[in-house]
Amino acid sequence: MADITGFLKIKRKEAGNRPVNERIRDHSEVEQILNSEDRMLQASRCMECGIPFCHWSCPVDNLIPEWNDLLYKGDWKAAYQRLSATNNFPEFTGRICPASCEHACVLNINKEPVTIRENEVAIVEHAFAEGYIKPVIPEIRTGKKVAVIGSGPAGMAAADLLNQAGHTVTLFEKDNKPGGLLRYGIPDFKLCKDTIDRRISLMEKEGVIVRTLVTVGRDISPEQLEKEFDAICITIGAGHPRDLPINGRDLNGVHFAMDFLKLQNRVNSGELDSSDNPISAEGKKVVVIGGGDTGSDCVGTSIRQKAEKVTQIEILPKPPAERTQDNPWPYYGKVLKTSSSHEEGCERYWNISSVRFIGENFKVRAIEIEDVEWKNIDGKYTMAPVPGSRRNIEADLVLLAMGFVHPVLEGLVTDARLDLNLRKNIKVDDNYKTNRQKFFAAGDAISGASLVVNAIASGRKVAGEIDMYLKNN
Ligand SMILES: Cc1cc2nc3c(=O)[nH]c(=O)nc-3n(C[C@H](O)[C@H](O)[C@H](O)COP(=O)(O)OP(=O)(O)OC[C@H]3O[C@@H](n4cnc5c(N)ncnc54)[C@H](O)[C@@H]3O)c2cc1C
Ligand code: SF4
Repeated sequence: MADITGFLKIKRKEAGNRPVNERIRDHSEVEQILNSEDRMLQASRCMECGIPFCHWSCPVDNLIPEWNDLLYKGDWKAAYQRLSATNNFPEFTGRICPASCEHACVLNINKEPVTIRENEVAIVEHAFAEGYIKPVIPEIRTGKKVAVIGSGPAGMAAADLLNQAGHTVTLFEKDNKPGGLLRYGIPDFKLCKDTIDRRISLMEKEGVIVRTLVTVGRDISPEQLEKEFDAICITIGAGHPRDLPINGRDLNGVHFAMDFLKLQNRVNSGELDSSDNPISAEGKKVVVIGGGDTGSDCVGTSIRQKAEKVTQIEILPKPPAERTQDNPWPYYGKVLKTSSSHEEGCERYWNISSVRFIGENFKVRAIEIEDVEWKNIDGKYTMAPVPGSRRNIEADLVLLAMGFVHPVLEGLVTDARLDLNLRKNIKVDDNYKTNRQKFFAAGDAISGASLVVNAIASGRKVAGEIDMYLKNN
């Protein structure tokens, strides 16, 4: 057990973010790193509860109390071994996981949960720095070949485990570089791309074959894959964005969030010159439609591109500052989130619906908006416009960040004749198998847009199922 009274003596201490006026001048990570001594003290606050709710709420079942105890005792190496037993990529989750574990931490009853996420990233970064994360090359190869399609966290986790099980894995990716939304969606200021390169390089040394710039369904047909591979794992994400088909949608200056974010990520990596960036927020009045994480990433990116003004609007009501009675601990607290991007300077409005985009010379100039009211009628929330509330807000760049509806169906999914569920995600059974022999699927492609930690968990589970399938065949 970590220090039995640690939480009484030590206050929660976060590493904190770099000062706003410094960080908005670059795209480097916002979050700082705590020194090792303080980090170990933070780990001492873990009470190793009889029922570890943190463990229960972590989608990859991280053995949190165990590695907190090892960290507190200064056994960083053993802490890493416990951590990596359940999570392939703690360097990603330790940076960007919304940390449902901390919401469920018993100390969160007093709003001072253990700094679980930060402890996680500290353990893995220490392991890399000390050089005890080394390529582990499987001693025996099974002779079975697996194709993993899509190199986001789900595909990476599946490829990693299947390779470790001795199968020969090829990870296909349509983009320039592997990583999926980790690389081209999530901004550098939340997740530095060196972390992806470092992990991919390790996986390649361990035997995973990475083939980028290959769109399966266009460059390789499902039938070819079927002939060449013993199993196929589809982890193509949920890339079909939710649109806003109102009047003026086709005006210049109205873009999907992902198109905007991907361009900045490509500029940061040197794939694109910033002067060639076709969607820049520089000097513009930016309106982000959608109040979630993607919207918040658009806010931070616009600010770094030197937007004149950034406004974020959301159709749903403003979440409460504190948990409500029907959302008690240890469940994830549905409360107002203020991200580091919001702190950097942005106006936020809730209960706002967009009526139409207003243009001039084919360019967007404003959005007509109106207030909406949400009513709970027989347990069902319905929305109604507030009469007389219509008004315009100026906008010369509009970013649509209203989430994703399902995977891109054109190409691979259609060509392979894969069954879909009611939400048009790829349908799988309890064993992650699709309706087509040899074809499995995981990640956002089966769940719809979710989280990195859920994608890793899904990739781990599909790898187990594919391994079993290959052994039985
Ligand atoms: C802007 C943004 C910010 C986010 N921030 C966070 C966050 O802070 N924390 C968090 O936990 N989650 C966040 N998420 C969600 C998270 O990124 C996703 O849930 C996660 O990446 C899904 O993983 P995946 O492997 O299923 O799919 P993806 O990451 O989408 O990867 C799918 C990959 O498949 C490739 N692909 C698709 N079709 C083909 C094909 N036919 N052939 C070859 N390759 C193909 C794609 O190019 C892509 O690389 C964010 C998402 C976005 C968009
Ligand atoms: S992966 Fe997420 S939920 Fe799990 S321990 Fe890490 S921060 Fe917590």
